[in-house]
Amino acid sequence: VIRQISRFSARPAVVAKGLTFRYHDILAGASSIARDVHLATATRHKLQDQFTGPRVAIYAPPGRHYVEATWGAWLAGGIAVPLCLTHPHKELQYVLDDAQVAVLLTTPEHEAELAPLAHQAGADLRLLRTQERGVGTAPGVEQLLANARPPHSLAQWPDACGALIVYTSGTTGRPKGALHTHGSLAAHVSALVDAWAWREDDRILHALPLHHVHGVINALHCAHAAGAAVEFLPNFSPAHVWGCLMREEDAVTVFMGVPTMYAYLLNAYDAMAPAQQAAARAAAARLRLTVSGSAACPLPTMQRWEELSGQRLLERYGMTETNMILSNPYEGERRPGSVGLPLPGVEVRAIADPAYDEDSGAASSDGVVARPGELRVRGPNLFREYWNQPDATAEAFDEDGWFRTGDTGVLDGSPPYWRILGRSSVDIIKSGGYKISALGVENVLLAHPRVAECAVVGLPDDMQGERVVAIIAYSGEPVTLEELQRFTAGELPAYQLPRQLRIVDGLPRNAMGKVNKKQLVRDLFAVEP
Ligand code: ATP
Ligand code: MG
Repeated sequence: VIRQISRFSARPAVVAKGLTFRYHDILAGASSIARDVHLATATRHKLQDQFTGPRVAIYAPPGRHYVEATWGAWLAGGIAVPLCLTHPHKELQYVLDDAQVAVLLTTPEHEAELAPLAHQAGADLRLLRTQERGVGTAPGVEQLLANARPPHSLAQWPDACGALIVYTSGTTGRPKGALHTHGSLAAHVSALVDAWAWREDDRILHALPLHHVHGVINALHCAHAAGAAVEFLPNFSPAHVWGCLMREEDAVTVFMGVPTMYAYLLNAYDAMAPAQQAAARAAAARLRLTVSGSAACPLPTMQRWEELSGQRLLERYGMTETNMILSNPYEGERRPGSVGLPLPGVEVRAIADPAYDEDSGAASSDGVVARPGELRVRGPNLFREYWNQPDATAEAFDEDGWFRTGDTGVLDGSPPYWRILGRSSVDIIKSGGYKISALGVENVLLAHPRVAECAVVGLPDDMQGERVVAIIAYSGEPVTLEELQRFTAGELPAYQLPRQLRIVDGLPRNAMGKVNKKQLVRDLFAVEP
């Protein structure tokens, strides 16, 4: 990776707080961090095995230090473990302990706060300092690699060595650390760079968290693998994003977000004066690529974005463990409500649940179906293991070596594209002998003008097994169940209509804008899902 990146030497790599850092500036910073990490780990770190270097946790705001720390960890043969800036201490400690971190890198303003956590985890706290460097002073890449002295195995078999531990979003339980190797990262990054036509002259506006694959890999590493510039915002603010997009000079070409970000951008647009709206529309239309993922993009959000910008969001589907799996095409039909086809090198199939699907016919002998089933995945993009959880790793793969996603999908339409029906455990409601996709019902409800947020769940029902329940936050006049039933009746078959309504002020969401439905059901209905 570093060898690749060093080709872009004098091009802008990182833009933050109005400052631009070039690839060779960042490489020079990374090289001094690598020396630091090496010193901190060489004396006392015992290699777990030759493919598993010391874990280097990174707690740094979006900007050059974050990137330098990642590249520095790699140059030192370490495994980068990005931390969430907004996590409470308890959660940070969990990650530091769980990953058995050897070094924690952070910026001086966080030193006092993080020192006790590092101490507790037995990690060395090292500071990422700002050093002024002139352009062109970075040593050559061979020199950098020689200085950094990565462990022998990384120099010899880079693909097999650990590179990154990313913790899952924790939507369904305690976050699990997914260990990616340099090989799985490189395979995935090069597939995505091709698939989404990344170019050297791209500039991505980056407002995603830097501890999940969406922000770390799709948005950051892909940009750098292509030699593009990454303009970081300190966090997501709709006004700030619109301001950057509307700027004429140093035009942004790519934006990526989770669906709630697009919903916020659309709301901010609605609140603009007409002249500003015209400028916003022109700015959105100029973008080369806008991507949505991490959760299903509601159809109304997709439609409104298209009306505003004249272009369709590219929706893709992936997981921490697998990186991106399915993507709508860059060129060709992007189908709303669908996530397209497997990325190059990735294989996907859906396995029906035999206990539930025994009477629905079409399963072939190996259970592979062209009707809804659990998505299973194979490919060079897959993670190596759940860190420290051999049992969970073993359970995650089926007997044929396919990774079980836990999501239900179906291949349909013409030409056939994959559609995600939701998490098999919470989004597939089994009611009166039917299987209902909660995401499908949510899409219809969200089209109601006063439904601001919505989560559909199944609750136990004596008659139906489960009944469809809508949890709604409204804007304006309150909505009623009867009204929502009338509204959805034209769009959905009767068995899918919500039977119960619960009004809430807002839905609790995690850093990726996702709702933990199991927790929500426990909290609101005191039912164990
Ligand atoms: P945890 O595994 O800790 O419960 P998580 O599954 O939310 O959390 P991630 O790996 O960040 O953690 O998210 C992957 C999940 O996000 C997928 O399994 C899928 O359920 C959902 N997802 C991602 N993209 C899409 C999409 N385009 N449409 C529908 N669901 C999506
Ligand atoms: Mg998951």
